[in-house]
Amino acid sequence: MTPEHEGLVERSRRIGLCAELCRMGARSAVAADLLGLPRRLAIQVYREVTGAAGPPRGRTPQSLEWFFESHRRRAQASHLALFIDAARTALIPGERLLAAYRSYRALHPGSVIDINRAAALLEGLSRGGVMLGSCEACAARVISTGEPRVYGAECPFCRGEGGEHQTANARLPQAASA
Ligand SMILES: [Zn+2]
Repeated sequence: MTPEHEGLVERSRRIGLCAELCRMGARSAVAADLLGLPRRLAIQVYREVTGAAGPPRGRTPQSLEWFFESHRRRAQASHLALFIDAARTALIPGERLLAAYRSYRALHPGSVIDINRAAALLEGLSRGGVMLGSCEACAARVISTGEPRVYGAECPFCRGEGGEHQTANARLPQAASA
């Protein structure tokens, strides 16, 4: 359904989701794209909920390489990707991202991924630029760029140690019983 043809109720629901995304730090352009809302409307919502004159300037981070630049980023992005996968029944991408991002923030209060980068991850997962693979050593689900198998040394959870010597909080829920 295009925004022009949707009803008032659906439109207000999307505006509510837009406000939630902006409160979590989403740029108005990111929120507009995720919700299929006109950008001008998203800017209005952004101003209202943040009290800022306008969204920050500069390009929105879209690099997928960023998630692979450290074990910490890759581990957290793997958790987030799993939550994004679990929220796939959400009809609107913005709703799916909000659900996944809330779970991610609950798991990682010291989160390194902001919601705009999370949107880039969602986009990468949808387009196939990044996927959830499995570590051949510890079987944890780990983000990967196209290869379903992740080698132990690059796995942020076990780094090739077979999953026996890692700290408990680094395990993905699915791998905990392995
Ligand atoms: Zn591993």
